[in-house]
Amino acid sequence: MNNRIYVAIDVETTGLQSGLDEIIEVAAVTFRGRDILDRFERLVRPRQSVPLKITRLTGIDPAALAQAPRFNEIGADLARFIGNRPIVGHSIGFDLMMLRAQGMNFNQPIYDTFELATLLLPQATSYKLSALAARLGIPHPDAHRALNDAEVAAQLFAVLSERMLQLDLATLGEMVRLMSKIGLPLRDLFEEALRQKARNAFLEPIAAPPEPADALTPEPTPLRPTGDQRPLDLDAIGAFFSPDGPFGRTFPGYEARPPQVEMARAVAAAFNCSEPLMVEAGTGTGKSMAYLVPAALYATQRGERVVISTNTINLQDQLYNKDIPDLQRIFAAAGLPPFRAALLKGRSNYLCLKRYHELRRSENLTVEEVRALLKIQLWLPSTTSGDRTELPLIDREQAAWNKLNVTVETCTGSRCPHFRECYFFRARRAAEASHLVVVNHALLIADLAAASQVLPPYDHLIIDEAHNLEDVATDQLSFNLDQAGLLKFLDDLFQTGGVQVVSGLLSELPTVLNEIGGGGAAGERINAAIERMRPTLIRARTAIYDCFNLLTRFVQLDTEAGQYDPRLRLTKSVRQRPEWQAITQAWQNLNDILAAIGNELAVIEEQVRELNETTGALNDVLVRTEVLRRFATDVRVRSGHIIFGDDDSICWLTYDRQRDTLTLTAAPLSVAEILQSQLFAQKQTSILASATLSITGDFSFVKSRIGLDECTELMLDSPFDYAQQALVYIPNDIPEPNQRGYQQMIEQAIVDLAVAAEGRMLALFTASNALRQTYTAIQEPLEDHRIGVMAQGIDGSRRALVDRLKEFPRSVLLGTNSFWEGVDVVGDALSVLVITKLPFAVPTDPVVAARSEQFADPFNEYSVPQSILRFKQGFGRLIRSRDDRGIVVVLDRRLLTKKYGQQFLDSLPHTRVRTGPLAQLPGLVARFLRGGRS
Ligand code: SF4
Repeated sequence: MNNRIYVAIDVETTGLQSGLDEIIEVAAVTFRGRDILDRFERLVRPRQSVPLKITRLTGIDPAALAQAPRFNEIGADLARFIGNRPIVGHSIGFDLMMLRAQGMNFNQPIYDTFELATLLLPQATSYKLSALAARLGIPHPDAHRALNDAEVAAQLFAVLSERMLQLDLATLGEMVRLMSKIGLPLRDLFEEALRQKARNAFLEPIAAPPEPADALTPEPTPLRPTGDQRPLDLDAIGAFFSPDGPFGRTFPGYEARPPQVEMARAVAAAFNCSEPLMVEAGTGTGKSMAYLVPAALYATQRGERVVISTNTINLQDQLYNKDIPDLQRIFAAAGLPPFRAALLKGRSNYLCLKRYHELRRSENLTVEEVRALLKIQLWLPSTTSGDRTELPLIDREQAAWNKLNVTVETCTGSRCPHFRECYFFRARRAAEASHLVVVNHALLIADLAAASQVLPPYDHLIIDEAHNLEDVATDQLSFNLDQAGLLKFLDDLFQTGGVQVVSGLLSELPTVLNEIGGGGAAGERINAAIERMRPTLIRARTAIYDCFNLLTRFVQLDTEAGQYDPRLRLTKSVRQRPEWQAITQAWQNLNDILAAIGNELAVIEEQVRELNETTGALNDVLVRTEVLRRFATDVRVRSGHIIFGDDDSICWLTYDRQRDTLTLTAAPLSVAEILQSQLFAQKQTSILASATLSITGDFSFVKSRIGLDECTELMLDSPFDYAQQALVYIPNDIPEPNQRGYQQMIEQAIVDLAVAAEGRMLALFTASNALRQTYTAIQEPLEDHRIGVMAQGIDGSRRALVDRLKEFPRSVLLGTNSFWEGVDVVGDALSVLVITKLPFAVPTDPVVAARSEQFADPFNEYSVPQSILRFKQGFGRLIRSRDDRGIVVVLDRRLLTKKYGQQFLDSLPHTRVRTGPLAQLPGLVARFLRGGRS
């Protein structure tokens, strides 16, 4: 394959929309192996102006474009240069789409280096051209210029082709077999590699099929209590953080932070006295090390496990990949006993080897399933975790993952032939052997809901980002049911997919019984139960449709009555409407049918157990029967609570108009009692930490929400000097959010502020429609000042947007939801934070509405405290280091006009607050950022 001549192509454009955007530069190179043979490069004059973000991205001078030819003047030269050679490019589909829009045609083979790289480099962290070039040592000095990108794509293709030839014959053969099922364009490359390898086969040893990378590594020994019951020495903990302690000796220039030391001592005391601790530690305290040090010392001394739970992947990554390895090095340097740490995720994150091999053998594979299998095949030899986040699945390949991941329903546990090398059970065993186990809140609550079957046993718990615990617990403890879920249940039992194709438990059971000679009397009883179930399954399908049609119509009636919220909360009065009567009857019918199915499944389960056989197929059948029987019971009970009402649950229907789907949901009215009795009361140590847990210096609200009534409280100020570093400005002459002119004021204020600050701005919104409206309105005026505008949900992922703000500070970034937390931009690139509106929860949200009813004064006792916590999170985005300076502008005058406004301000770190006319703000911002008097 290295002797063939290919042509690599790249275009730069005014944007990403075909039919709207235009080519501004095109380049192509011919190449053989790693040798570039010839080059073609032209600028192209577009009809529209080039957006600032494109000029920034490409560095193409608009003046040079004004002198360039139109595409029709260079198209014929380009076509001649390309000829009929095979085409190569990175995400080449886009480039060819733009060229086809100019009338060009391509009938030759096309190879996408992006696609090839996702197969051959399964563990790359990014598949952008520049990231791949850096990883493979290909120089890429001038990214986003067409010629350079085309040359790098050519080099990348050559390197990947060489890698392909390094695959063993068995792997190449299997890949070609899978590709032949779907006609993947890359297939002929792999076939050619296979032919070349086959020609040289006698020179190579025969390789075994790929197996998990560390299948044979010895297992760590589970943690054993040491019997050492001495308490932690609080002074020794303090000394750990002193400049001449382990930190100071490891990190030159290390400075002790008194709040961090205070927190570490409090955490150690919480371990010693088993009293829960709630600690609010302001930004910059260094709270993760403040709990990791005592946790690791306690765990190693006693041989006991400490579970650390976070809400975000960012913090999980930081703990597991940075802080914990740092601390392990510090322990080693200080001569302290080593400690082990593990990261444990939910089941669905891990590859199930049994399902992988089953799917590989399947005859009916979709394109996405084949692509996922190809990627997994090349990933298996290198992964030690089987963790899905290492695997570059894109778009609908991700749906294929649901047929490959670990699920309770399909796992046969110790009876599985892959149990020993199973990634999930290896991760669990690693957690059992670890002193520190990092998990997320969702897994923590899933463990609680599954009666501690998910995590290894533990007595000591640290919850970071604890302000999210109520929301995550509410989500995790909620029950959702839709029509698709019920139909899948029936399909898992029995499904006909055409004349020949039948699948599902009931169709497989007779075959499995035949394999063991019929199963005697038990086999007969199983077959009889299957026969009895057949007509019931047909009735079940009808009953499901009847029930969901009535429910959908019920929601639609509500919508027609002028309610536009897609969620309808099921209150007593809603259930008293005459139309609800028909729904209860339809549900009763469905309930009876599900009960009948559950009874027959119980018979089958009992008889399969009676067979007392241990074949793999029977084990599999037993697990599936158990799971389906449990599903039938759970659904009846829990959906019954939704239909008839239940004092402890918040129930609602959600109708998704676009997809025409209806979901029933039941969420716990309160998670406090559950968390208290099933989590905190069960643990010797419970430590909850966050930067935002108090309201005007009081923890009562959060404590009551999560059921932690009795605990030690500690509030630590940030080491940052907010009084000097930050200023809060509240304009006093603007409309309030529900008044006329408010949206226009937001738009104009952001433009004026951005011009004064030269970008460097993050604006936080509470609703995406307001964000989008603002985005559209401010683009043009800010582009006139060469300031770019980027928005969440429009211009890329959160990480990409934050990176771009850091790289191009002359920008305004607009965000909602997740941007209120976790955005971390140190330095000048973020100097102005705009909070457009106080972040009150939507009062019609079923959970908010139902929980509000628990208070005598719902607004002041529930909505205001919730909003203050979020407001504090948003505020925390501005000052991220001792050297940061910046202004927070709150464009919500209710801070001044409403009684609750002062509570918001009193909850912030000690900061200067000013009010005045909006018109004064730009001048003040400019002076403040220049370091002058404000
Ligand atoms: S033990 Fe369970 S999860 Fe692991 S490979 Fe076997 S079936 Fe899959």
